[in-house]
Amino acid sequence: MNPIPATLRRLHFALWALWLALPGLEAGSEDGRLEIHWIDVEGGAATLIVTPAGESVLVDSGNPGTRDAERIHRLATATAKLSRIDYLITTHFHLDHFGGAAQLARLMPVDRVYDNGIPERNPDNRPGDTRFPLLVRPYRDMEVNQRLVINPGDRIPLKQAPETAALELVCLGTRRQFVAATADTPRPALCASLPALRERDQSDNANSVVLLLKFGDFHFFDAGDLTWNVESRLVCPQNLVGSTVDVYQVTHHGLDSSNHPTLVNILAPTVTIMNNGVTKGCQPKTFATLAALTSAQAHYQMHKNLRSDQENNVPDEYIANLKKDCDAHPIHLKVDPDGRRYTVQVPSRDHSRVFQTTAKR
Ligand SMILES: [Zn+2]
Repeated sequence: MNPIPATLRRLHFALWALWLALPGLEAGSEDGRLEIHWIDVEGGAATLIVTPAGESVLVDSGNPGTRDAERIHRLATATAKLSRIDYLITTHFHLDHFGGAAQLARLMPVDRVYDNGIPERNPDNRPGDTRFPLLVRPYRDMEVNQRLVINPGDRIPLKQAPETAALELVCLGTRRQFVAATADTPRPALCASLPALRERDQSDNANSVVLLLKFGDFHFFDAGDLTWNVESRLVCPQNLVGSTVDVYQVTHHGLDSSNHPTLVNILAPTVTIMNNGVTKGCQPKTFATLAALTSAQAHYQMHKNLRSDQENNVPDEYIANLKKDCDAHPIHLKVDPDGRRYTVQVPSRDHSRVFQTTAKR
């Protein structure tokens, strides 16, 4: 039962539709929609979630230096109308994921940081690397309100906005550990033909935080740079994600060391969004895995792949940045207040497409 009287609900949606129709106005979080913004950090990661209650979660912060922090700050303030970042989640300790955080924290307040705990030494099992402690120092020293080590099963305490779908952001796994399966956890048939495991990935990619964002029936999956063997354990023999998803952030920028085809097929996304760079990611096997997905209706790329294998590109309309020297165009996604429908926008291509949230299985 919906507790809101039908007339009020109709009025709410009518006002919201009117708001969307007004030219030149940003549809901010106050319209009851959930927003996800992919900021171009040139083959790194920076995914900004803005909730209907106006709270913000930044998943990864791009590279060191001012470029990526300024891009995140610009989108957060000018487009998403934020004055601070409520939650920063660092999926793992590679520079393209944590590098921009310290500079961003100088540009706008960052309240609470979740990560795997700052490593003392190189987290890729390369003890000879003496640079890591220096590289991570700005992140260690940045001024934030609170720091927490994230664990499987942790829920980010997001506020629920009235008259909108139930919102939840949960950590499904991190540091190669996952939430526990229950009797109800699905046992996908695809696990019967699971490809062989690979050599153990010694890098910190395998420790990536795995996040599932739910807004009603809308599900978004972001696993940082999680790699093959750990991806395999996440969905087989039981799918610890719990169901299929709507939107899959292509893991690890589209590298072939990630995006295990069994995981991608079990998650069966309708839309995939790849935060690749000009020459980084968007690799052939991953591209083929995505192209073969029967569930998918659209694939988006942050950058056009400008390597020699240019056949591994979606149509230009679905790519935010076509040239090497680009203007860092973003990709936006907005979910209706009831979670039943979402719109993906690529403003640089004048592209806007609506998708229906799917029933989960
Ligand atoms: Zn990365």
